[in-house]
Amino acid sequence: MKAEVVVCGAGIAGISAAYHLAVRHGIKKVVLVDERPPLTLTSDKSTECYRNMWPGPGNAMVSLMNRSINIREEIARESGNLFHLNRRGYLYATARPDRIPHFRRAAEEAAGLGAGPLRCHAGKSTDPGYVPAPAEGFENLPVGIDLILDQKMIWNLFPYLSGKTVALIHARRCGWFSVQQLGMYLLEKAREHGVRFLSARVEGVEVKGGRVRAVAARNDSGGFVISTPAFVNAAGPFFKEVGRMVGVDLPVFSELHVKMSFKDHLGLLPRNAPLLIWTDPVSLPWSEEERALLSESEETRRFLEEMPSGVHTRPEGGPASDVVIGLWAYHAVPVEPAFPISFDNRYPEMVLRGLAIMIPGLQAYLDRLPKAVVDGGYYTKTRENRPLIGRLPVKGAYVMGGLSGFGVMAACGAGELLAAHLTGSKLPNYAPAFAMERYEDPEYQKALETFGDSGQL
Ligand SMILES: Cc1cc2nc3c(=O)[nH]c(=O)nc-3n(C[C@H](O)[C@H](O)[C@H](O)COP(=O)(O)OP(=O)(O)OC[C@H]3O[C@@H](n4cnc5c(N)ncnc54)[C@H](O)[C@@H]3O)c2cc1C
Repeated sequence: MKAEVVVCGAGIAGISAAYHLAVRHGIKKVVLVDERPPLTLTSDKSTECYRNMWPGPGNAMVSLMNRSINIREEIARESGNLFHLNRRGYLYATARPDRIPHFRRAAEEAAGLGAGPLRCHAGKSTDPGYVPAPAEGFENLPVGIDLILDQKMIWNLFPYLSGKTVALIHARRCGWFSVQQLGMYLLEKAREHGVRFLSARVEGVEVKGGRVRAVAARNDSGGFVISTPAFVNAAGPFFKEVGRMVGVDLPVFSELHVKMSFKDHLGLLPRNAPLLIWTDPVSLPWSEEERALLSESEETRRFLEEMPSGVHTRPEGGPASDVVIGLWAYHAVPVEPAFPISFDNRYPEMVLRGLAIMIPGLQAYLDRLPKAVVDGGYYTKTRENRPLIGRLPVKGAYVMGGLSGFGVMAACGAGELLAAHLTGSKLPNYAPAFAMERYEDPEYQKALETFGDSGQL
């Protein structure tokens, strides 16, 4: 078998790469190889959210996300918004007055990096207007950031948030969409343009004379070889492992991130809510009896200590749904990806308790916990939480990984960037920030020491 390009991995990254190569660059023989059905390992476990608010240094992350959003919006228009793209925004909240200057700096930084204008609402008559986000659709809505410091306004707009909330950042070019529906649409288009999906495991890459010659794969019928001059590693959590097949040690590691969902049968989270993020560390309130129980074991004692910031939630599904998603990465440490994943059975309760700090109404569920569905996957990431997209020192070998907790939002732009590298097309300004070569630059290595907030949720 012969191919112009072999892409390993049919998650949202590999599918987007195949789409851009075949549909937008007219490459005829792209073969997409995955040992699992498309989109079933990590890409269907995500919260499906997107944002263009990212910290620096530099504007590369904001630019990649803006480009990705542009492409996704184009595809939404072309498909009649098949994948329900919305623009409800991300709402970051704090109850700590001492964190208001940090909120202001983060909003100013994002605005300065290209996320859009900053509008400050502090209860003054000269304040700009605030346009509420509709539940559906994405057209003709404000971009940029609304920084809301006026407590009356906070209460009027978001009465379900803790009464202690003192500041909100409502980042506006943000929202969510159905990854499954976008992914299948891109795959369908790619197939119409000649992309072939092969259900097989990539076992090796033949490199001779410093360049890719062939890919060895295996399925139920046995092993076979695809001769090809180009190989794209889009293997998600197996990015490092597949990197070794071309003899390159990719600088990534993985963290387990878990998500839970439950039926909000009491209707405590409004169905039109944006993505809500509590940015303060949290000390969970426990009764004396609970404290005594939790302090009995090493494993549970940590729930008595201050827990990290970042518990977040959003409503999931159409108007008839009552499902709510909740996440809290309170124990994200480097681990070796392993499947099937086993989850801590205390996770749903801890997430609900954390969310109840931000949305006190949810306390109603703490006495009798609702049934929760738990799933998750791995954030495979570089130390600075920026992706690896581009070519490797081995001729014909390309990478599209390290997509961490932003792979579905970045996929459209990342696929375009990968295809530009592979076809030798003009590269955008942000390309060097994501290329493997960045680590060869001593200035970059030095700068890495001072990278601050990585923007991870
Ligand atoms: C709980 C959670 C919440 C998240 N929330 C968001 C969010 O709100 N927004 C966002 O943008 N991102 C989010 N993410 C991150 C996002 O899901 C990932 O970055 C993205 O799905 C990665 O896509 P991928 O295609 O690289 O990997 P995957 O979807 O894992 O696909 C990789 C594919 O490669 C295949 N593969 C690997 N090795 C081989 C081999 N040797 N042979 C054949 N096939 C192989 C696998 O079978 C798999 O299908 C979240 C992730 C998690 C876990």
